[in-house]
Amino acid sequence: MAIKLYDSLSREVRELRPPHPLGAFRFYNCGPTVYAPAHIGNFRTFVINDIIRRLLELEFGASNVKHVRNLTDVDDRTIGQAQKEKRPLAEITKKWTDLFHADCASLNCIPPHVEPTATGHICEQVDMIDVLMKKGNAYRSADGSVYFKITSFPEYGALSRIKERELKITNSAFDADHKDDVGDFALWKAYKPAEDGDVKWTGPQGAAEGRPGWHIECSAMIKKHLGDTIDLHTGGVDLLFPHHENEIAQSQCCNGTTFARHWYHSEHLLVDGGTMSKSKGNYYTLGDLVTRGYSPMAVRYALLAGHPRKQLNFTLDSLHAAESALTTLRAYRATLPFTGTASDVFTPVFAALEDDLNTPAALGALFTIVNRRGGDAGSGSFDRVMFALGLKLDAPAAPTTDIPALVKALAEKRWAAKQAKNFGEADSLRRDLAAVGWTMLDSKTEYKLEPLKK
Ligand code: AMP
Ligand code: ZN
Repeated sequence: MAIKLYDSLSREVRELRPPHPLGAFRFYNCGPTVYAPAHIGNFRTFVINDIIRRLLELEFGASNVKHVRNLTDVDDRTIGQAQKEKRPLAEITKKWTDLFHADCASLNCIPPHVEPTATGHICEQVDMIDVLMKKGNAYRSADGSVYFKITSFPEYGALSRIKERELKITNSAFDADHKDDVGDFALWKAYKPAEDGDVKWTGPQGAAEGRPGWHIECSAMIKKHLGDTIDLHTGGVDLLFPHHENEIAQSQCCNGTTFARHWYHSEHLLVDGGTMSKSKGNYYTLGDLVTRGYSPMAVRYALLAGHPRKQLNFTLDSLHAAESALTTLRAYRATLPFTGTASDVFTPVFAALEDDLNTPAALGALFTIVNRRGGDAGSGSFDRVMFALGLKLDAPAAPTTDIPALVKALAEKRWAAKQAKNFGEADSLRRDLAAVGWTMLDSKTEYKLEPLKK
């Protein structure tokens, strides 16, 4: 079966083209900016990309896939954080990179084959900017910065379908002072001692000392590690404009060929109806949730429960449902006879995943099979499904807290009252539970007891 995926450029669901017979499938996923902990919104994007990586391996063979994901370790935000903490940039970015790796491992995300850093690719970025200046796609401004001239690339805006007028409005808030045109974007930023501390490198020819703009790093790292044309480029929906639009402009003008054959953007994770974001501070990290007693696998499961191209509102209730789904899967796995991977009983699960990554439909199909029991399901074919979803069932379950008998009895009474739609009594029992320091978190089918925070 072929993998079908929405392509943000053509705006249709298309089959992913197989890799060139002589090479691997070249897959690039924009990585995190390492100045703060990645939140579970970021991890929604990375878990979805991990499913893509797994499907590619199943489709083309593990050795025929090359996956690159960068680390943005120099930009306004990372430098700003280092300045705020009065510590070296590398110390800040290492700390958050280490946590990111640990969280990825807990969420069972397969590491990319190459994980390049922006600071490790300054020469490649400078070389690319030199080419763009020579070709007339970039110019040096009065302060020694370098800008990309968007009028030199008539296809600018094809991905985001942004019109010139909207572009001017969108960009007018940014540093318009040194540019020829407000739509132009920075390839190289001249050093500003008050803002940049000791972060600076020798620039492109004729430019001042400084640092690369954000967008050029992905173009340069892709060129180095995957070549001039890649098979799939992905990221969260916020990266579509301007980041990916700018990557296309830089790479196509420099290399003279198609940059990415397929573009995929996944939607955001929301909390209380708003986008979870580091700058807003309204986020949960994986660590926050583990501290509250949830397992990383439940977090992964909950992140897969919504369609990747639709926004998903995060709730703690979804984690309870996820924990119990995992318990069911563990129990089911234990009943299966030991077999190889050849069985078509789970075909509907793969069909849903390969149909534009419909993870909720895949989980639905899985539970239809699990609840039916029987068929020719065996451990091998089930483990293949768990591989595709990246669900590690041997991961430790959430720690349990000893629940006093009185609390259990109150909870049972309240649950029964709620089922009988006797909401007044249910509310009064909830208050009784709170009085003894406990709360009940309800899903549609079950509840979980949690101690109230002191
Ligand atoms: P950043 O660390 O800000 O560069 O973001 C890393 C990745 O997370 C990018 O692909 C973003 O598009 C994605 N992202 C940021 N916020 C969210 C969110 N609330 N939900 C899902 N993905 C997100
Ligand atoms: Zn990027």
